[in-house]
Amino acid sequence: MKDMRKFYINGEWVDPINGTDFDVINPSTEEAYAVISLGGKEDAERAIAAAKAAFPSWSKSGKAERIELMETILEVYMKHSDEMGEIISEEMGAPISMSKASQSGTGSYHIKAFIDAMKTYEFERELRADTPNDRIIHEPIGVCGLITPWNWPMNQIALKVMPGIATGCTTVLKPSEQSPLSGVLFSEILHEAGVPAGIYNMVNGDGPGVGTTLSGHKDVDMISFTGSTRAGTLITKNAADTLKRVSLELGGKGANIVFADAAPDAVKNGVIRCFNNTGQSCNAPTRMLVERSRYDQAVEEAIAQAEATAVDLASKEGRHIGPVVNELQFNKIQNLIEVGIKEDNANLVAGGMGRPEGMNRGYFVRPTVFADCTNDMRICQEEIFGPVLSMMPFDTEEEAVDIANDTLYGLTNYVQTTDPEKANRVARAVRSGMVDMNGQARSAGAPFGGYKQSGNGREGGIWGLEEFLEIKAIGGWNPEA
Ligand code: NAD
Repeated sequence: MKDMRKFYINGEWVDPINGTDFDVINPSTEEAYAVISLGGKEDAERAIAAAKAAFPSWSKSGKAERIELMETILEVYMKHSDEMGEIISEEMGAPISMSKASQSGTGSYHIKAFIDAMKTYEFERELRADTPNDRIIHEPIGVCGLITPWNWPMNQIALKVMPGIATGCTTVLKPSEQSPLSGVLFSEILHEAGVPAGIYNMVNGDGPGVGTTLSGHKDVDMISFTGSTRAGTLITKNAADTLKRVSLELGGKGANIVFADAAPDAVKNGVIRCFNNTGQSCNAPTRMLVERSRYDQAVEEAIAQAEATAVDLASKEGRHIGPVVNELQFNKIQNLIEVGIKEDNANLVAGGMGRPEGMNRGYFVRPTVFADCTNDMRICQEEIFGPVLSMMPFDTEEEAVDIANDTLYGLTNYVQTTDPEKANRVARAVRSGMVDMNGQARSAGAPFGGYKQSGNGREGGIWGLEEFLEIKAIGGWNPEA
């Protein structure tokens, strides 16, 4: 068992004050291979105090100094990039090839994108050309508590820690206790890059412990949270007494609207996208809406793709999908597949309950497709967070938009059509923070975030920087001084 119990506070690795041991389990084998400590209130408070003490000097650091530090972090990160992929694969089950390329790759992608955003971002500007005595200054908000999930651990950590450092804030990161070891390596990377003491601190822990201490603490000025809508609600309530800023990136139940004139591989790619990362992505297109004239063919294509989706150990190279993260998620997914099977009209056409054939350990789930769903079914309303797709037909564009919008969530919707005017019209009509059309990804620096119960934050690019900034408006400014 690897002993990973220490926390990174004020530039040093320190022992927990009142932590509790917690096993890290490899989801492919169900075996514990490392132990961390879930910190207590005093551990979190120690990190908050370090961040508070570091704020006065770091908040006054210059943009050039911060960019230089970010560039060094990127350099050191790249040295450890493969190791990061290996650690993430072992702790949360992403297949190793995908983990090195995508899971670890999102870390360097975001670090680089924030360096680019910083280069053009103006922290100080005039209000308008005709108001020379007005000055708008963007200043760091203060001490930030950063709480991240396990499904894309480095994606989320980079999306929070980097803008924190870039804007002159000081931070306390609490990674998910389900994927804590990538957070430990990230802390080692920041240490090696020479991040000054106290600017970045990391305490492992769970929601009721470190998470709640961070969200309720008077010296924490902002919480940036990514995770479930359930925890987002608890955090918001607990933060209310101190009126801190709470930035939330929560769940989703994305619709993938496939029109009859979509490209030939639209359905196949939609299934691949839904099952990527074993279905554990907040922006997964988990509801596939298909225009009726293409619907029967689409169901056949989805079945073929589900059956062609290999499931295997995370440690094996290749393009298969791995296990889901843990027993709790495995059971939740099994339960929702059972709910789907019991629905009157939903039709299980691929996969189903239990592990894939020949597998008797590990949290492996069968790639599953339900056809003929209606949007009021639980499998169309709840985030399943596994490789489970729900399909349904539609007749008109208006109906497709209504179904897509008939959800508590509003993170990412997808549109497949070769008619550019229809594509743009539907992109405008769906109520979500992001729309991906015809398989084209959004570019680096585009904001990531949701409408409705998918949250209120925007991460990445200049929007990601501004989450961490206060705005000061000054009158009587002397532009010559
Ligand atoms: P989770 O909400 O259970 O946990 C997320 C983090 O919050 C963990 O670090 C956990 O320890 C902490 N936490 C839990 N309860 C807390 C509380 N009361 N106070 C403070 N912290 C608390 O979510 P998860 O299972 O780790 O992640 C999966 C969820 O994350 C899914 O719903 C997914 O859609 C969402 N997600 C959203 C985005 C996005 O950008 N919108 C990205 C990735 C994941």
